[in-house]
Amino acid sequence: MTDETSWNSLAWLNARGDRQALLHDRGAEVAAERFGRRVFLRAVVEVSNYCRENCVYCGMRRDNSGLNRFRAQHDQLAELLVHQRPASITDINIQTGEDPVAVREVVLPLIQTLSRETPLGISVCLGTLSASLYDRLRQAGASVYIMKFEMADRRAYRGMLAPGRLEERLENIRLLAKTGWHVSSGFIAGLPGQTSEQLLSNFALAGELPLVGCSVSPFIPGESTPLARKATADIDQCLNCMAMLRLMRPEWVIPAVSALNLAGPGSGYRRGLATGANLVTINLTPSEMRGDYLLYKRDRFIMTEERILSSIQEQGLTPSTQSLADYYRSQELPSRELTRLAPTVVGAVGRF
Ligand code: SAM
Repeated sequence: MTDETSWNSLAWLNARGDRQALLHDRGAEVAAERFGRRVFLRAVVEVSNYCRENCVYCGMRRDNSGLNRFRAQHDQLAELLVHQRPASITDINIQTGEDPVAVREVVLPLIQTLSRETPLGISVCLGTLSASLYDRLRQAGASVYIMKFEMADRRAYRGMLAPGRLEERLENIRLLAKTGWHVSSGFIAGLPGQTSEQLLSNFALAGELPLVGCSVSPFIPGESTPLARKATADIDQCLNCMAMLRLMRPEWVIPAVSALNLAGPGSGYRRGLATGANLVTINLTPSEMRGDYLLYKRDRFIMTEERILSSIQEQGLTPSTQSLADYYRSQELPSRELTRLAPTVVGAVGRF
């Protein structure tokens, strides 16, 4: 039986029309109660597309031999981020394929430079690494680790050759949180063959993990992957997941990912912001490398500063002057306080 008063029901996942508008409006209201009209504004730089993993859905998988592999240079990125970054960003997210060489040779020195020469909060999204490398990244000045669990269903995780083993990924998330990182995670909605039950199981897993935020990415059939001919995720289902996540965890930082505009051309991103998302990302990867950082298609939808600022303005939102890193530090509540907050979410949706 479907329990319509609970946030994680099939009925909300598949809501359309007035019910969907109610869900998204409630998500936006809950975000506004917690964050006001502010959204966090970060930049991302994609430092290396070498990857030792072979995820079936990702264009950077190691079996994609047609991809021109690159590692960016420290000096080029340092110049860009220290002297030429947009004034509006408060944080930087440094992302790579799973490439520990790039982490040691480029990412670590880049974090040291940025901590010394800028006030930016520093997030990283580098896959699973050794405990000692996590420590070195923290000591260098990074404080937020983004490690998506990708999908909660173990069988699907194995079938999609998602990174390592799911258990291992979850252990790494727990280790990071235990050793002082603020950890954000995420899952993919609309993967080929994904059932509604599998999609909903992502909420239970996200709720159990020691997270400060979570993303929902719509599946986009990746160029040069075994899934290239599969259907793109249903944008409405993906947006419903975002609103449901907001209602489940009012205090989380939930990004609007650029792929929303691939799943919902012309309106996906704007609609994502209207579900209660509160983080936007400007892409600062040097243009000569962007095409090869192949998650989905070479022809990427690049979120420039201009596009981001006009999207948030259209939604009546404003850029936060507080960095994500500072926000997370200010939220360091004892865990019993977080446990106390969780049940209010069921009530938040139950009022519909
Ligand atoms: N290698 C790091 C890691 O494992 O955490 C960095 C992230 S990986 C390069 C980029 C992320 O893009 C993946 O975690 C996955 O969620 C997402 N992604 C890749 N291919 C995708 C696709 N076809 N559709 C939607 N999301 C995809």
